[in-house]
Amino acid sequence: MKAAAAGLAAPYAFSQAPNIATAPLGDNLYLLTGAGANVIARTGAEGVVMVDGGLAQNAAALAQAVAALPNSGPVRTLFNTHWHPEQTGSNEKLGLAGATIIAQENTRLWLQQNITWPWNGQKFKKLPKIAQPNKTFYDTGTLDSEVRYGYIPDAAHTDGDLYVYFPRQNVLAVGDAACGQGWPVIDWWTGGWIGGIVGGLQRIQSVVSKDGNRDTKIVPAQGPVLSVDDIAAQAEMYGAIFDRLVQMLNKGRGPSEAVEAKPAKEYEAKMGNPDEFIRRAFESQWAYLSPDA
Ligand SMILES: [Zn+2]
Repeated sequence: MKAAAAGLAAPYAFSQAPNIATAPLGDNLYLLTGAGANVIARTGAEGVVMVDGGLAQNAAALAQAVAALPNSGPVRTLFNTHWHPEQTGSNEKLGLAGATIIAQENTRLWLQQNITWPWNGQKFKKLPKIAQPNKTFYDTGTLDSEVRYGYIPDAAHTDGDLYVYFPRQNVLAVGDAACGQGWPVIDWWTGGWIGGIVGGLQRIQSVVSKDGNRDTKIVPAQGPVLSVDDIAAQAEMYGAIFDRLVQMLNKGRGPSEAVEAKPAKEYEAKMGNPDEFIRRAFESQWAYLSPDA
């Protein structure tokens, strides 16, 4: 939560365009970092396909970095892995330029309304129509023979999470359904929950076993590229924490008691202070597991 909260505060921290770094992921496929979230771009004769667009104030710098990639051209397609500002900051620019913006239907619905997070009062403004996803889906889709995408319906992070798989490069982009650094944000206001993190990580593993292999590179929205083993280890860790939180909920405990019980104790040295994560994870159970939900 700490790292992610810092990420959300970033709009006010940058006084000038940040430096966007690029790294190759395979044939015509690139990872761009520094725009507020990991961004993937595939270049080629048919135009550029992007996964996520960084924060709005970095959209111009990101567009420059994408234009400078080998075999680049106009951005024809943008995926939003979910509705958060770190993912949707290039929507307006690319929507105006006529790009197809693909998202799961729930993501479009969230982007059509103003949102306030109850735990910290943070407000998010709905996007103008031109910036909203203009091609939505419910289940799975294929852009061309080298781009497949699908819904992650477990509500790992929001209720509109999607993955994008590039079979030729064996790269799977998963947005915030997996987290590459620190504890994740659980946006339970728009559907995410701790059980969904576990379910989402299991789903990522099943997508890999169907479409990928041991070498599949998994790109989260934040942090370094993950391996299949990293995802398995995360699934195990969040599974253990989830079990403990369910037990506490069933005993009638509250979020503060859950934090005090230190249900992530053995992971703290590696992952950092889990208190905000545990609080949010506990709260996230209410919508899914409380008897009166
Ligand atoms: Zn997010």
